[in-house]
Amino acid sequence: MNNTPSSDWIDVSVALRTGMVHWPDNPPVRIERMQDMERGDSANVSMLSLGSHTGTHMDAPLHFVRSGPGLDEMPLAAVIGRARVVEIQDPESIKAQELAAHHIQRDERILFKTRNSPRCWQTDEFLEDFVYISQEAARYLVARGIQTVGVDYLSVGGFQKDGPETHHVLLESGVWIIEGLNLAGVVPGPYDLICLPLRVKRSDGAPARAILRRREAKEVEEGIR
Ligand SMILES: [Zn+2]
Repeated sequence: MNNTPSSDWIDVSVALRTGMVHWPDNPPVRIERMQDMERGDSANVSMLSLGSHTGTHMDAPLHFVRSGPGLDEMPLAAVIGRARVVEIQDPESIKAQELAAHHIQRDERILFKTRNSPRCWQTDEFLEDFVYISQEAARYLVARGIQTVGVDYLSVGGFQKDGPETHHVLLESGVWIIEGLNLAGVVPGPYDLICLPLRVKRSDGAPARAILRRREAKEVEEGIR
């Protein structure tokens, strides 16, 4: 290790701020200073008002499965360890046919980089035509036995296209879901991932900080975990 580890990490989470994009029927984001040193208070203290599926966040099975586990019950191994950024060319959706070339293995943590990353985070408007995981691709991922999947906009399923279906397929099979990543500056390949959602009791979802560190080709070849 020549470099300080922290200098190698790439932050792939989006910054939370008032007025930012959110899913159409979810609460808007408001962050307000309730105590403000500019107004003579002795400290700055903010109030956060936001939905549990805001910005970079995770979904628990409880999001779509009534008696499923909450995010507070997630094994930390789901979000700490090796991950692979896979670039998707399809401008509409992630399909099983395109995934076949990537030889996805059991227990992988797969993060999809699509055209969403450079496009969708540029505006506070919700974009309906973002790239999503088709329900057949979700079934393919479950069949491959992946552990965790990440996408680069607000939902694994599309807007009025495979929304609940894709969530059900993944969450009922125990795949942990990271949504709202920004992978714009990230080249495809192997990484170390750390993604930690807030520990909210029985949460259906929670905001998360997600960071990646590129793995050396040599380490990958040797299969170092
Ligand atoms: Zn979701």
